[in-house]
Order: sequence, then structure tokens, then C-alpha cells
Amino acid sequence: MTEVAPGVLRIDLPLPFAPAQVNVYLVKLAEGWMLVDTGMDSDRSAALLDAALAEAGATGSLRWIVITHCHPDHQALAGVLSERYGARVAMHREEVRALDQILHWETRLQWQEEALRDAGVEPRMIRRVNASFAIVQRTFRPVPVAWVLSGGETFDGAAGPLTVEWTGGHAPGHILLRGPGFVLAGDAILGNGVQPSVTWYPEADPLRDYVAALDRMRDARLPAFCGHGETVPDVPVWAELARKRIFAKEDQMAALLENSPLPLREVAEQVWPERLAPFDYRFAILEARAYAERLQRTGRIRRDSQNRYSISR
Ligand SMILES: [Zn+2]
Ligand SMILES: [Zn+2]
Repeated sequence: MTEVAPGVLRIDLPLPFAPAQVNVYLVKLAEGWMLVDTGMDSDRSAALLDAALAEAGATGSLRWIVITHCHPDHQALAGVLSERYGARVAMHREEVRALDQILHWETRLQWQEEALRDAGVEPRMIRRVNASFAIVQRTFRPVPVAWVLSGGETFDGAAGPLTVEWTGGHAPGHILLRGPGFVLAGDAILGNGVQPSVTWYPEADPLRDYVAALDRMRDARLPAFCGHGETVPDVPVWAELARKRIFAKEDQMAALLENSPLPLREVAEQVWPERLAPFDYRFAILEARAYAERLQRTGRIRRDSQNRYSISR
């Protein structure tokens, strides 16, 4: 456990996949404590959290558990901890919906499969992606949400208010907390030079949402405490770099489509070559789709009747 700011304690929890750990934060409130994110549902994570809460003197006064987004490394212990410590759980409404889809995944599978098919992914690969998604799906847990957030809510921190800010992008209802002198960023801002993935979902433009969130961060001359990796010292500097990386990827995609129309699969495999293993493959396709959606909406590319993309002339 590390004190990253007065009344803000970082607890590093292990993960069974890369990145090797997730950071969760114990924050002192005007009355009691708040935990931001929870780690995976494992005995080891639960034991580390119990020990950290005891060390901080928070076992009898954990009031809130705030979930930045419903990926299993952030949400899976919320139910256990809420019951054990009597804390109430807060999560954004879009994550309530997304989690419901994942837990009852027939709907989710349908649109995910459709997105893969539209991208030109072979049926055999779709089956492999589904099989690996089934393994990941088992690590999600229901979250007993007491406060459904929309953005703009505040928590009464010991040193000042912590305001909920919706970022979208990485997950439909991803939020961060803007606190007194720091940002608790979840996976919206990551340490160690890592760019958060952006994932498409139906009828959405998550890349637009995320770029807008990065724009709003321009005035936050604060450090960010991240869901993974080391503290980011200056949010606007990081946000500017993240924007540049996004625009560079857009240009890379547009350049690929310069000469002949391509299915999204080919674009994804060239722009996200590090994500071609089955468990990662859907992220490559859904991120490529988020970019394609953005480029289409801004008129740079178009999609033909065979779902191939080309430059708009
Ligand atoms: Zn995440
Ligand atoms: Zn994460």
C-alpha cells in the first residue's frame, strides 16, 4: 500500500493476465472511506484488500465502492466487499447495462459476432474468439449497485469534493473521479506509456466520446492515479499525447484504404498487429470498428455494400 496523496492509498493487486496488476485506491472521505475499483475475484486479492483496509483503519467505515468500469479486474470483488464491509456500490448506468449484457451474454454475443462477420472474420476464427470470450466471461461478477451514476455526482472527500466525470471510450460507461489535487482515472488514463483501448458497441461513437473526454482534461493540471501502471504526473500532457496517437492511427487507417477497398479485418490486422491472438482479437476488431465509425462519421472513409472500407473522394 502506498500513499500517493494525502488520504489516497494505492493498493496493487495481482492479475492472471497482462498487465500483471491493477491499482485500486482507498480514499478518505469527510466521513469514512471510499474504495475505487476492486480487482479480480480471487482469494489473494480479497486478502490483500482486507489487510489494506485494516492497516488504514477503514474496516468499520468503508462507505462507498466506486467502479470506474465493469471490466473484471475492476469490478469483480464489489459484491463480496460490499457484503463484508457494508459499503454501497456506485457505477455508471451504461456499465450497469454493459455488465448485464455480459452476464446474460446472448445479446452481447449476437452483436459482437455480427461485428466480426461484418469485418470479414472467418467463421472458424469467430468460434475461437467466442470460446476465449466464454472463459473471460466467467470472471465477471454481478455488482449490487446502490447508486447508478450518470456523471456530475460528487463524493464528499476529506480534502474536498470528488466529482464523477463520464469518459466513455474504453468502456461505454467509464468514469473518472476528479478530486482535490488529483484525478482517479481508472483505465481512461494509463501509466507506463500505455494507450487505453477503445471498444466499439452498437449505435455508438466511442472514439468521439473519448476524444471529447481528453479535451475536457486539458485544464486538469493534476496527476492521474491510474488503473494500471505508474502515476501520470500531468494529465493535460498525457491527454495531448493520447490525442496525437489517436489521430496518427486514423491517418494510418486512411492511408491503408488509399488504393483499394478493404474489409475491416485486414485493416485491424495491420493497425493492431499485437492483438491477433484469439483472446485479444475481438479488441482489435472492435477498436478498428470504433475508428472506422469515427472516420465514416467525419466523412473521411466510406463503407460499401460488401462492408469494405475505402477513402471518400
Ligand atoms: Zn478496462
Ligand atoms: Zn483495467
